[in-house]
Formats: sequence, structure tokens, C-alpha cells
Amino acid sequence: LYGYAGNTLRIDLDSQKTEKEPLKKDWVDDFIGGRGFTAKILYDENPPNVDPFDGENRFIIAMGPLSGLFVPASGKTHFCTKSPATGGYGDSNMGGHFGVNMKYAGYDVTIIKGKAKEPSYIFIDNDNVEIRPAAHYWGKGSTEVEELMKKEVGEDFQILTIGEAGENLVNFACISHDFGRQAGRIGIGAVLGSKNIKAIAVRGNKSIPVFDPKGLLKKGKETYAACREKPGFKGWTPEGTAGITNWCNDVGALPTRNFKTSNCDYADKINGKAILKELKITDKGCFSCPIPCGKYGHARTKLGNAYVEGPEYETLSLLGSNCELDDIHAIAYANYICDESGIDTCSAGAVVSFALECYEKGYISKEDMGMDVKWGDLDSIVHILKIISKREGIGDVLALGVRGAAEKIGYDSHRFAIHVKGLEWTGYESRNAPGMMLGYMTSDIGAHHGRCWVLGSDVATAVGGDKNATVHDLISGNSSFDTIPRADHKNVVPLVLKSQHLRPAFDILGTCRLQYMEIGLETKYYEELYYYATGKKMDFEKDLLLLSEKIWHLNRMFNKREIPDFGRKYDYPPARFHEEKIPNGPNKGHVMSLEVIEEMLDTYYEARGWDMNGIPTRETLEKHGLNQCLEFMEL
Ligand code: SF4
Repeated sequence: LYGYAGNTLRIDLDSQKTEKEPLKKDWVDDFIGGRGFTAKILYDENPPNVDPFDGENRFIIAMGPLSGLFVPASGKTHFCTKSPATGGYGDSNMGGHFGVNMKYAGYDVTIIKGKAKEPSYIFIDNDNVEIRPAAHYWGKGSTEVEELMKKEVGEDFQILTIGEAGENLVNFACISHDFGRQAGRIGIGAVLGSKNIKAIAVRGNKSIPVFDPKGLLKKGKETYAACREKPGFKGWTPEGTAGITNWCNDVGALPTRNFKTSNCDYADKINGKAILKELKITDKGCFSCPIPCGKYGHARTKLGNAYVEGPEYETLSLLGSNCELDDIHAIAYANYICDESGIDTCSAGAVVSFALECYEKGYISKEDMGMDVKWGDLDSIVHILKIISKREGIGDVLALGVRGAAEKIGYDSHRFAIHVKGLEWTGYESRNAPGMMLGYMTSDIGAHHGRCWVLGSDVATAVGGDKNATVHDLISGNSSFDTIPRADHKNVVPLVLKSQHLRPAFDILGTCRLQYMEIGLETKYYEELYYYATGKKMDFEKDLLLLSEKIWHLNRMFNKREIPDFGRKYDYPPARFHEEKIPNGPNKGHVMSLEVIEEMLDTYYEARGWDMNGIPTRETLEKHGLNQCLEFMEL
């Protein structure tokens, strides 16, 4: 089996047994790898309607056929489980060097079930797999655990760990690795915590068989060279994702004050250039990446100093402008607190801003909050983050995420709880961006830009610009665009579908998508690399994007199976976006009307082959070979 390690590792924490079995051929033939594997396995192996924190909920780690090979940015690790945040399908991926070592240790897929009786960590050294005690790590922060564990098991091990938030089952707890990389979303860290697993340490040094090693080496070199020749190589890499901050502010997409508005007057103080000037020590990249987007730096604040990777754009916008924090050191310090506690900075920013608005309106008392909190105040933000991680006071409620917290807090707080399906919205205010709004609304895991990013085309197509412009083109002004008017909502569905299908493609192969998305590396390289790795021909559009589409239908059916009243009503944005006009800035006066939302959903469902309640039709499921889902259609 070329391109694969060839094995699945099964770990049963109840019985403490581990088992290595050959990778199933039908998984490889029908789902290729990574996100394809996880969607298939979670649907097949999770018992229906199991609680996310039940031992029966699977925690799956999967790599793709290009993972760990001589291929640019082939170091992504894909994680999947039933999400405690949404109650539906959940996945999240992470850069660094962890998954590569899992594959070198011999495992394309790892499936963990059960619960350890005491705090434990999983030790994997090629064929030697052990479940070891971890009481001495419990309660410690992510970076500290990584440092200590490397001393215990060896510097050449790769470590992933949860923080205090994962131990305390915070619904948006993440997994941390490599001193600053995270699998951030859907509460993946809380599921590991529920299994009493603090960390996984892995070292692998086996070979991966490839179909044509010389061909792969030649093509790999060509692909690296192609990346270096892209204008974005020099233009996008220096600031990484933070480079888009001013563009987002200029087009009115920067979430500000809990998404009340979409721009601020201090973007210059919290952008990529501010990171380079104030924080940065060095660039940091994942395994085999030619465009290292990580910025490792030093934050200095009145609360203390910290070494931290980031902040990425999402963190700048959600912990920054969305909480009215206008100081780059303060944002980086809040980022550090999230990383150490093991909470997702995206959800954290949305939850903290929600809490600040609730407090401002008198829905949360000073007594419950534990102190007088204010917008834009680092002490307040760090205080809220800490009480969430420890689940103290109102932090115990906020740990549920904005949907769950709004249900408990009451009043009209659900109107400004900014989420879809229970997952907090990320860094793009979309009241004047219909494609982006629809992408967030229909995402399988909830409001995550990683599922669909069409903000560039929302802006560019309206004025005849290049709808295929890369992010580098947009921020460097190579693509013609203006802020108003935007794309007509009647035309956005094909672009949303394309983006929703493109993104899983890279998660399936096991590579980072940013080489394609940010600097425009052509898809033909992936077709050729896949051929030299596996010996199989693959057409990116016809084969890979078709598989992506199949995964969308499968995950929709997982949600239908697991969430009792799942359907159209789970695809609406929060009331703030269709009730409140943006008060200022380039999109002043804009609101996404319910009529437009309904029309976009109708068109989207029809194009997807779903009924008007958003459920795939029998015909659609049969066409994609998903007959296994038919039994749940009538539920
Ligand atoms: Fe990692 Fe950034 Fe490179 Fe992607 S572009 S592989 S996230 S360093």
C-alpha cells in the first residue's frame, strides 16, 4: 500500500489493551485519508447518540497519503470526535510534527475509546505502545507539560497535551503541541480530558513505502521551487495570517465589540506589522513547510511576560478588537493564557466578549463574575479566561460556550451569542458578505472559517475583480476590488460549494491548505505528488472534490443521526446579524435580512441535493454510495 504506513492502532482505555491491525482497504479506496477516514470511522464506529464525554465516543487521529513525505507542508494531523460544543460531527487539525511521527511509527489511523481509570498519558515508540500514569502532569499548563515530558521520555518525542481546561471539560478546550500549535476547535481537548488522557508522546522512525521514490523526490523539489516563485512567498510569509488584519478592517469584516460592529480605529496597533515590530523573535513552521507562518515572540505586559507563538489573525481579531483590546502585547499575553490553559483562542475571544456584553447589560453580576470587568482591559480578559479554565463562578457557565451560556444566563443574551450549531463564530463579520455568511451558516462543525472562506470573492466579484484571487493578491492590492457593493447573494452558492469542497481536499491528503489558499500553488502539483506517492491517478476536480462532497453529505447525516431535531433551524446565524444594523464603518447600515438568509438556504440546499429542511435526499445519498445513511433518513 504505497503512501501509507499500512496500519491502524486501536487503544481501549477501559481494558488497557492496544492492538495494531492492517489499514482497511475500503477506507483507502473510498475515503483516501485524513478527514475522509475520520468522517467514515466516526459514522461507522461511534454508537449512535452516545454522549461526547462517554467512553464510547471515539477519539480518532488520522493522517493522509502525503503526510510525512517529501511534499511541502505535509505535517498536518487530523483529529475527530463527536463534539461536546455542538453535539454533532467534530474535527480539528493541527500543524507541527506530531502526526508525521505517528505515521513514521507505523500508524495512519489511531482510534481511542474508553476511559483510563486515573490520569494517564499514551506513550508510543514505534511498536511499543503503553498507557502510563500522568498524575504528575495533571493540573499543569501545556508548555510546561511538553517541557517536562520531553525530559521524561526523550527530546526526540513529539508531545500533544491538554491543559487545565481540557481536564475540566471546558467545551472549547483544545489540544496543544510544539509549544504553540493547536487543534483548536470543537472541544477536542475536552474529549481527551474526559478519557483521563493528559498527553500523547510519540516517536517513529520507520519508512513509508512510496510508489516512485525518485519521481516523488523530483516532483517534491519542483513543488518547493514553485512555492518559492509565487509572489506570496515573499509577500505573505513574513506576517502570515496576521497580514490580513488591515484588509479585514478596511472592508468592514473585523469583528469588534462582540460583533456589534465590523471595524475599529486601532487596526494598525494590532496587525502583522505590530507583531514584527513589537513581539517577533523568529519565524516558526510546521514539518516541511516552505512558508512558515508561525511568529514566535515575547509579550511584555503589566501582568507578566510570556513567550508565545502568534497571535494569528483569528486571535488578533477575537481576543483583540472583539474584546476591544488594542495592545499587541496584551493580545499576545491573552493568547499565552489560552495556550497554557488549553483553550481555543477563537472560541475564547467570542466567549469573553459575550461575557463582557452580558456584564455590561447587567445579566452577570459583579459577584458572579468575581471582579468588575471592562472592555479592552487585560486584567478583565485574563480573569475571565482563568475562571473558565477552572470553572469557577460564572466561569462554570461560560465554559459551556456562548450557546450553552446564553441558555443559562437568559434575558435576550441568545441574540448576541455569536455561533452556529453551538460553535463560536471566527474572525470575519459577515453582514455584508453573503457568501461568507452562508459558509458559516452551513458548516458541518459550526461557525468556522476553515470550512469555507469566500470573503475575497464576496468583495471582489461585486466589482468585476478576480474571484480566484489569493489572500496575498487581496492584501497586496493585486486584485481589483472595492468595499461596496458586494457580491449579489443570488450568485454566491457555487462559490461557497467550491470552497467547502476544496478545503477537505487538503485535509484528506494530509497537507496544509495555505500553500494553495494563500499563495496560489496550483492543484496539478497535488495530483502529481499523489501519483508518485501512491501509484494512483487522481483528478483533483473530478475525484478529490467529489470525495469532499461525499464527506459533506456523510457529516450532515451524522448530525441528523445525533441531534434529535437537526435540520434547517441549525443553519441560521445569530439574531444580531439579521436584526441589528452595523452602526459605523464601511458597512454602516448593513444587516443580513431573514429574506436573504432563507433564499440563500433554499438555493444552497437545492444545489446540494438536500430537501428544504437541509437533509440529503435518498437520491443524493445513493448517488454518493452512502446507503448506510438511509436508515436514519426518516428519524
Ligand atoms: Fe504550518 Fe503555517 Fe506552514 Fe501551514 S503555512 S504548514 S500552518 S507553518
